[in-house]
Amino acid sequence: MYTGKIHTRSFTGYFRRLRFFGGVILFALYFGTAWLTWGDRQAVLWDLSEKKFHIFAGTFWPQDLVLLSGILIICAFGLFFLTVLAGRVWCGYTCPQSVWMWIFMWAEKVAEGDRNQRIKLDEAPMSANKLIRRISKHALWLLISLATAITFVGYFTPIRDLVSSILTMNVGGWALFWTLFFTAATYINAGWLREKVCLHMCPYGRFQSSMLDADSLVITYDAERGESRGSRKKGADYKSEGLGDCIDCQMCVQVCPTGIDIRDGLQMECIGCAACVDACDSVMDLIDYDKGLIRYTSDRELNGGGLRIVRPRLVGYSFVLLAMIAVFSWTMVSSPLVTLDIAKDRGLYRYNSEGHIENSYVLKITNKNQKIQSYAIRVSGLEGLQLSHTGTVTVNSGEMVEVPVSVSVNPESLLGDVSDIRFHVSTVDSPAFKLVEDSKFTGSVSL
Ligand code: SF4
Ligand code: SF4
Repeated sequence: MYTGKIHTRSFTGYFRRLRFFGGVILFALYFGTAWLTWGDRQAVLWDLSEKKFHIFAGTFWPQDLVLLSGILIICAFGLFFLTVLAGRVWCGYTCPQSVWMWIFMWAEKVAEGDRNQRIKLDEAPMSANKLIRRISKHALWLLISLATAITFVGYFTPIRDLVSSILTMNVGGWALFWTLFFTAATYINAGWLREKVCLHMCPYGRFQSSMLDADSLVITYDAERGESRGSRKKGADYKSEGLGDCIDCQMCVQVCPTGIDIRDGLQMECIGCAACVDACDSVMDLIDYDKGLIRYTSDRELNGGGLRIVRPRLVGYSFVLLAMIAVFSWTMVSSPLVTLDIAKDRGLYRYNSEGHIENSYVLKITNKNQKIQSYAIRVSGLEGLQLSHTGTVTVNSGEMVEVPVSVSVNPESLLGDVSDIRFHVSTVDSPAFKLVEDSKFTGSVSL
């Protein structure tokens, strides 16, 4: 592997276009979603001060963390599935490190020119031209980094307030700290570290090779067709000279963002970006050879077997993935629109003015519906139980209300020192919904 500074050559081709359109969609999603509104709030917002996560119609609380974990597990399994199917397509096409790296490379090309111009610029002594080009490149990098950081912080604090506070130089300490932190992180990762993040910091590249099988699609150089490599005269009968299709032009190496030579075989450093496929195809086009000397193929196909996309392992993974998505969707759809958490006062019971035994509780009612809702509360489980709270409790959409209540009962109704009781919470308007939660009532049995 090449260890010096990597100057990638720009190129065009099918996979570059694919990555470009994919990148445009991802950028639009990343930068655009933060500005969407849902009702009177930001559509996607992890509200740290309120400890709530809004995602369009849904609102998640810390107690819903298991649902968020479910999403992460499904994403991780989806990534395994994709890797078994087609190698590191995530790394090459959609990983933020790669997407931002390509954007930074584009900015570099705008400011300093393509590969050869950049190499010359590096070797040239400092001059006004070199200084202007360098400043332009870093200014562009910083601008992209700042926009990225503001958007990222905007998913945790309302982005409209954040931007207006930055514009009026009135931004809070934490928001400023995180904006500067993520600006620096983006600038360093995509501008300076680039492929080093993939090679030395990302754990995924380390274990992805263990997930591949003989049928996984990976980017491969067809050595049987390409070797022996070497230059040749135009129109020469190179086959009779013992040459293969590789003209050893080095284009595949020059476009590689990790600086490897794919002709050395499948390597851990290959992020599967397919830049070398595009580069080699354009060379093959130019010299009128068949395309595909470097291509997506499987180990089996390369060794004379056929391409086997559908295979037991992949089918098994698909079933598990679909089952996980189905269970998660069912959990989401069937999760209650109201939750009730009961915190019982740990103190001892007491007697009220009527001589009844009284226990205290705090009921936390969370309204997960998209509209304001009123709830009635009652309690059951012992004869003659009385609840201090009468009337209804109104809770705004996506909010939680704490209701302190006391429950009392005639000591003669108690069957033991600890009795099971139940709190019932029901909506007083539509949609009709009832929720029942168990709790305990403590008191001394009257003899
Ligand atoms: S070898 Fe090819 S696919 Fe792999 S990182 Fe380099 S250019 Fe991308
Ligand atoms: S781009 Fe193709 S022809 Fe040129 S060196 Fe690479 S494999 Fe050989």
